[in-house]
Amino acid sequence: MAKLSEKKKKELAAAALEVRKRAYAPFSGHAVGAALLAEDGSVFTGCNIENSAYSPTICAERAAFAKAISEGVREFTAIAVAGGFEEVPEGYCAPCGVCRQVMAEFCGKGFIVLLARTPEDRREYTLEEIFPLAFKIEDTEGRPSGKEAP
Ligand SMILES: [Zn+2]
Repeated sequence: MAKLSEKKKKELAAAALEVRKRAYAPFSGHAVGAALLAEDGSVFTGCNIENSAYSPTICAERAAFAKAISEGVREFTAIAVAGGFEEVPEGYCAPCGVCRQVMAEFCGKGFIVLLARTPEDRREYTLEEIFPLAFKIEDTEGRPSGKEAP
């Protein structure tokens, strides 16, 4: 697992809680914020953005990854996630399966996932703990070749 200071964990959780205020969640009322720490020290934040048609909805975590990847950043250390229905989240909001798959695309097994209620009240996991046996195309036999599936 990557080393991350207590100070940095607090800052990351605080950033997730702050950006959570920008969540657009009129349908569920479940506001989520995420703060993604890159290996170069930069932080990319994201909030969930719901949509009337539901499926265009994007999670806070993927919004943060989209910002980072589109800025040319692809090496990450940790993400803090904060979400819930209350002003101060009552529980720990874990990333959905789709977001875990996106994390697995860009992050190693030791990538740190912080679930924050407050900057101080957090749970900490590695990506491997919350998403074992992630799908990776290179782990499958062969590569896509354009041939029809058997
Ligand atoms: Zn998600």
